[in-house]
Amino acid sequence: PFEYAPAPESRSIVDIKPSYGLFVNGEFVDGHGKSFKTISPSTEEVLAEIAEADEADVDAAVRAARKAYDKVWSRMPGRERAKYLYRIARIIQERSRELAVLESIDNGKPIKESRDVDIPIVAAHFFYYAGWADKLEYAGRGTDPQPLGVAGQIIPWNFPLLMLAWKIAPALACGNTVVLKPAETTPLTALLFAEICQQADLPPGVVNIITGAGGTGQALVGHPGIDKVAFTGSTDVGKAIARTVAGTDKKVTLELGGKAANIVFDDAPLDQAVEGIVTGIFFNQGHVCCAGSRLLVQESIADELLAKLKRRMSTLRIGDPLDKNTDIGAINSAEQLARIRELSDIGEAEGAGRWSPECELPSHGFWFPPTLFTGVTQAHRIAREEIFGPVLSVLTFRTPAEAVEKANNTPYGLSAGVWTEKGSLILHMANQLRAGVVWANTFNKFDPTSPFGGFKESGYGREGGRHGLEAYLK
Ligand code: NAD
Repeated sequence: PFEYAPAPESRSIVDIKPSYGLFVNGEFVDGHGKSFKTISPSTEEVLAEIAEADEADVDAAVRAARKAYDKVWSRMPGRERAKYLYRIARIIQERSRELAVLESIDNGKPIKESRDVDIPIVAAHFFYYAGWADKLEYAGRGTDPQPLGVAGQIIPWNFPLLMLAWKIAPALACGNTVVLKPAETTPLTALLFAEICQQADLPPGVVNIITGAGGTGQALVGHPGIDKVAFTGSTDVGKAIARTVAGTDKKVTLELGGKAANIVFDDAPLDQAVEGIVTGIFFNQGHVCCAGSRLLVQESIADELLAKLKRRMSTLRIGDPLDKNTDIGAINSAEQLARIRELSDIGEAEGAGRWSPECELPSHGFWFPPTLFTGVTQAHRIAREEIFGPVLSVLTFRTPAEAVEKANNTPYGLSAGVWTEKGSLILHMANQLRAGVVWANTFNKFDPTSPFGGFKESGYGREGGRHGLEAYLK
């Protein structure tokens, strides 16, 4: 049992209103549709009532974005757009504690992650793309790049504000306007971001935030007034979106699921590798599209590595997301918890060895212990399907060729990790692995200057870096 330190980031620094409307044309307005509740996954308490945008609301948001695009934003010199982006970045820094606490309450992630990872990278994205706004002639392949128009952006619940930043910052830098829909379980920080847009005096209609579930997303994707769809979420929904926009001239980028291999060779610094494995799968409760959910370990060191890994897993602290000592927070929703449980039970039924350290889980909320499956083969569903939770499947290999074959034996291709002291082996593996990102002797490292995106069923298009601008320019 672990004694929790008093929460350093008090709930009282955030002002959660009882209900929220939609952010359209620079104002919060009532929706025409129904409403739904957003709850705290760590306590199951209802946080707020959220408007569910219907087709008329989506239409109003797209019209506002179009008007702002035609009349203001696309005509504004890049250096003027940059001023707004810098202003937004600075306000995010100033209000970072508030944003971090709200993110942890609504999403369930540990405060040390939202405070030290999510929010700083969010601000960094706005700073980075602000710097591009007046230098776009160096961005694309064309000599005179132009914005696309109105972007419809749909994001998931695992990094609510970070995914928003990945979408909004480059779109605005390039002169597009946006209608963004956050995920239905985590709308609160996007709505706080809308307030930040007001505080930054962003011209009305440049950013519109519409809340709702899949139906709202469908209405946005199908709206004839948008020129670009940017989606991050599940592969199934990504495929449905690609079908919807087929035959139109809407541009699409899709950031979808993953089943990354984290590959440890026998010469790797093992303690460092153990930290990377833990970060790879337990960061953000494993709700990470590029999570290192398959550990591929060279057979000769498997026993030693697993013993170290189990010892390290035994020190992980699960519980209150607002406690600064917490390593693993709450699972984001009852549905996600049910999926993690189901796939883990299938793993056990299919014969893999299941292990979790002893830990007490809180009585309310959605929780799942850090879990390890050994003796996994490629035939097991837990080796093939994305679990999107704190569950690691361990496979072994003997040669680099076998590691490559197993790592690539997945319909996904988002990321991979390689642990070895040999530089030549790192380069060889990076060339052989069919993954958009390959980390060497580290894992889950992100930077606004680096492009991120997948191969195969992990989607297409890149976000981040100069490459991320190409998705918003013609
Ligand atoms: P999801 O696809 O169910 O939902 C994502 C978003 O799409 C939500 O806002 C949702 O409301 C909306 N949506 C649902 N149905 C829709 C439809 N028919 N049309 C338009 N929009 C629709 O995914 P999720 O469960 O929220 O997120 C988890 C998944 O996202 C995982 O599979 C994960 O791998 C993936 N993901 C990928 C990345 C990446 O960068 N590649 C990042 C985060 C999450």
